[in-house]
Amino acid sequence: MPGFEMFGESEKKQVQDVLDSGVLMRYGFDGMRNNHWKALELEKALSKRMESKYTQLVSSGTAALTVALASAGIGAGDEVIMPTFTFVASFESILAIGAVPILVDVDDTLTLDPVAVENAITSKTKVVMPVHMCGSMADLKALKEICTKHNLLLLEDACQAIGGSYDGKPLGSYGDLGCFSFDYVKTITCGEGGAIITNSEKYKTNADHYSDHGHDHVGNNRGAETHPFLGYNFRISELNAAVGCAQIERLDDFLAIQKRNYSKLRTSLEPLSNVSFRRVPTGGVENYSFLSFFLPSIELAKEAHTALGEAGIDACFYWFDNNWHYYKKWEHLTHKKSLGKLPQEVIDQLPDYSKSDFSKSDAWIGRTISCLIKLSWTEDEVANRAAKMKDVLENFN
Ligand SMILES: *Cc1c(COP(=O)(O)O)cnc(C)c1O
Repeated sequence: MPGFEMFGESEKKQVQDVLDSGVLMRYGFDGMRNNHWKALELEKALSKRMESKYTQLVSSGTAALTVALASAGIGAGDEVIMPTFTFVASFESILAIGAVPILVDVDDTLTLDPVAVENAITSKTKVVMPVHMCGSMADLKALKEICTKHNLLLLEDACQAIGGSYDGKPLGSYGDLGCFSFDYVKTITCGEGGAIITNSEKYKTNADHYSDHGHDHVGNNRGAETHPFLGYNFRISELNAAVGCAQIERLDDFLAIQKRNYSKLRTSLEPLSNVSFRRVPTGGVENYSFLSFFLPSIELAKEAHTALGEAGIDACFYWFDNNWHYYKKWEHLTHKKSLGKLPQEVIDQLPDYSKSDFSKSDAWIGRTISCLIKLSWTEDEVANRAAKMKDVLENFN
């Protein structure tokens, strides 16, 4: 998945442009910048590629989620539905604006189970936040129907699935708002960075102001700008955006390599009767950043994962025991371990997750192994890996 595997001349040239002008800031300094507006350029390129009217770049994927929620007016006491299997950024962004993360089960798509979502809706629910983990998506049609019925926002976290699609639309563009991360290990990277895409002019304007201290960005005299509302600093720098300008041009090439490598591994494992693959909802196209599959039981999956490591197959993840990606290890969330006092709404409304029944998630995630697809593998390396994985996995049934 990582774009950093493919750093080259185009990234260097883009960064050099910024260093030559000396303007590392995305706003202002019009006279000095030699017409280099890397953040604006990347926003334009993303809007085009993601078939969305507007893009707002920010400093990270976590910032993108936070700003997206804020731009839609989500705040204290609003409930946001999110999956048990995701990156910690999901609840961090929700808590950052004083809202309440409501965890719900995932199904064999490894993303939000629409039935569990509908069961979790209360009068305080405002947002459904599916997370397209490991390159594939939630059942977006079912989620959109639920959102329409209950008047909720659909916010897609497409940080791990850039370039995938659903119903012919780029992931991130199906909901009201979509978020991407360009951190160092994502499919394309800026070093650090993130983006929000939307067709709503209001959300875009709000995101633009909110991510820069509430500045309204009217005119080209920053000192004269007014502040329609409070904001923070979630700006991306021109240096980071410059790297992204080079990487977005290469996204489709990266996806083609991922698909080729993924397909070879998958073809090799397909004959195994003890291995089944993660379900991709009808109408969905993965971005092929991971190959995720199920073993027949939790015990077998654990043993198979260890055996893969021992056979030298690196970069395979067993999320069930992972500190960052599965609710079982989020004791800082479940025990409300905040540095300061959490908003009263969060304290009152946050469910007691130690009593929650996520056995349905456990049954899927406990059986899942996900193997990262690298861009830099040679054909021989992929063939070798495919054969070795088959040899190892066929022993676990
Ligand atoms: C990486 C990631 C994020 C956060 O992105 P950062 O740029 O690292 O802050 C959010 N959600 C998912 C699913 C991610 O993988």
